[in-house]
This record gives sequence, C-alpha cells and structure tokens, in this order.
Amino acid sequence: MNKKIYLSSPTMHGKEQEFVREAFDTNWVAPLGPNVNNFEKELAEYVGCDHAAALSSGTAAIHLALRMLEVEQGDIVFVSSLTFSATCNPIMYEKAIPVFIDSEPDTWNMSPEALRRAYEIYPQPKAVIVVHLYGTPAKLDTIMSICAEHNTPLIEDAAESLASTYKGRETGTFGLMGIYSFNGNKIITTSGGGMLVSAEGGLIDKARFLATQARDIARHYQHSQVGYNYRMSNITAGIGRGQLLFLDEHKAKKQAIYRQYQVAFEDIPEITMNPQNVDGESNNWLSCMTIAKGCAVTPDMIMDRLEAENIESRPIWKPMHLQPVFAGYDFISHTGGDKKGNQQKEGSQDNEGCEAVSEDIFARGLCLPSDVKNTDEDMALIISLVRNFF
Ligand SMILES: *Cc1c(COP(=O)(O)O)cnc(C)c1O
Repeated sequence: MNKKIYLSSPTMHGKEQEFVREAFDTNWVAPLGPNVNNFEKELAEYVGCDHAAALSSGTAAIHLALRMLEVEQGDIVFVSSLTFSATCNPIMYEKAIPVFIDSEPDTWNMSPEALRRAYEIYPQPKAVIVVHLYGTPAKLDTIMSICAEHNTPLIEDAAESLASTYKGRETGTFGLMGIYSFNGNKIITTSGGGMLVSAEGGLIDKARFLATQARDIARHYQHSQVGYNYRMSNITAGIGRGQLLFLDEHKAKKQAIYRQYQVAFEDIPEITMNPQNVDGESNNWLSCMTIAKGCAVTPDMIMDRLEAENIESRPIWKPMHLQPVFAGYDFISHTGGDKKGNQQKEGSQDNEGCEAVSEDIFARGLCLPSDVKNTDEDMALIISLVRNFF
C-alpha cells in the first residue's frame, strides 16, 4: 500500500513545542496566559487588524459575532449556502432564521445578485455572513456596498482563507467582524481553535467577556448575562504562535500545489480548477476541480480511484439549503428560481429545473489533496490517476 496522502492535515515544525514548553515550565498551562495574549497580538498584526480574541473554535467565534450583533430568535441572517455547516449552526443556536444565498460562478462565493434579491424579500436582516470558500476571496466590494446600502453588519467567515487577500488587504478584516479557524485541517492549526477579529475594540472586549462566562467585575461571582466557556487555552495558543511563523510557507506551498494541478490539467478541456478572484490572492487552502457538464466521468469515480491508492480527496461542501437539517429555510439562487423552505428536498419535483450555481458545483466538483507535505512524487501520482480518466 502507498503511504497515505492527505487532503489537508496538520504540519508541525518543532517551533510550536518551544511555546508549549514555556507554558509547561512556568506551570502556565491554564488559564489564559501569555501565549494567548501574544497569539492574539501576533495574529492581529499579521492580518492588519487592531483587535483579536482567541477562542476555542471558529464556530465559537461565529457564535459570539452573532451575539455581538444581538441576533435573536426570529431574526433573519443571510448566509452563503455553499459552505461547511459550522458557518450557519450558530444562527440556529440563537433560534434565528438563516436565508441561504447561492454562489456566483466567478469565485464560487456569495452571489451579489442573489443577495440583492434576498433584500427584496427580507428588507431587514440582522446580519450577513459571507464565506471565502477554499481560500478564494468573495466579491467583497459589491457585497459590502449592498450591505452598506441596507445598513446590515457583515461578518466574514475567513475560516478557510487566513492569509488570502482582496485588493491587497487580508480577508477577515473587511467586515465589522471576521473569524478564523485553527481546526486540524486548516492552513495553520492549534489542534482546534479560532479567532474573532474586528477594528472595533469594544466588540472584541465584549466577546472576551462573554467567552469567559460573562463574569461581572466583582469579587464574588456575579453574572448579568449568559456566558460561554469559549476561550483558548495557553497551551493551544502556544501551538498557534509556533504555527503562525510558518503561515507564509504553508500558503506558498498550497499555492504551488494549485499551480501544479492547473498546469497538469491545462490540456484536458473537461477539467476546470476552482476559480480565483481576479481582485485578490487566494491561500489555496484546498485545490478543487470540476468536471465539464455531460462528461461521463463523475467526481465519485475519481474519489474512489484515489481512495484505492490511499489518497484522500473529498466532495465539494454539500450546499446548506440541500441539508435535511436546513430544509425548512429559504434559498435565493443566483439566476432566479428561488426556493421556499421545505421545497428543497433533493430530487423532489420542486427541485427540477433548478439552476442553482452551488448545486452545480457540488454535483460536478471535488477537492484534491492539498497537503503542505505533498511531495512532487505524490503530486505526480495524483495527477496521473486523475488524468487517466480523460
Ligand atoms: C472549519 C470551518 C469553520 C469552523 O471552524 P472550527 O474551528 O472547526 O469550529 C467555519 N466555517 C468554515 C467555512 C470552515 O471551513
């Protein structure tokens, strides 16, 4: 059996251990501590944002961002449909109502056209959550101007796009708040963790307060609000500080992987790589491909073949509006033909003739191994296995 080739797995460098060791040597494994403070400071400096709160996960960061905006039961939140469920689960924690927005084909991210139409149906959403999928920045200028027209705060889910830029500025720093994830498969990892960033210090202070059980300033334990145990530990933050030193290296490697695939498949008209934003630079967290409509090769065939060689690949995220758990919520498509909740069951009558961009990407796409540790031999093997189908 070949050695396993991963989709995107943790890559440690040893430097992480120095920060962790320091925490051990000073018995400062918890609570919080200097690694947490420094990781916040160093990440904020990296992305060019003034304030950051280190948290237990990216999901927790999204949840706190919604709490900061006082999203409550019955409030509408517009959110990208083509994403991982962690983007929208926190909307459900607050019993708010997600309205799923389709992708546009140029970046696979939130369609400004669909977003505009969503406002015609729901003029007053409490928040918009935009995702930068697989590292590719969304069309931020247009999305931000639509949000500004309607006075809606924007949250950027930059979990997959740390170190990606749009017009020279880091994704995650455009919205009122942005979030990053350090889950095991992300471009850098702390084993698990997240960060909430904002230019507004007040929001980040408030988020830290809620993340540490919302303890009022008093010697006795007094609480005026419901809090969470969402902070990052001093050990975890130590791993993050070490990883941050290698973020640029990881990004360069992932970009090189994308280019290798791109060049290798250039002469195959049936294969298209996932789009890049002409106004930005992607961290290429995952390299993805789609297969031309009408081609006999399916993503499943390629994934099965890779799996037989001990090579990990993955389907494109299944759009949220097709998920059983979110079947009751509305979906606004890029091209028109929107769907009310409960009409979205896959293969149902109502689904016929649907031209949702996100559904099409899901049907024809897959994520290729994009691990920082991929060697040239690994890449050659993956590429030849895929090429053999065409
Ligand atoms: C990974 C991810 C998250 C969640 O991050 P966790 O740290 O795993 O909670 C959120 N959104 C997207 C798009 C992700 O890929």
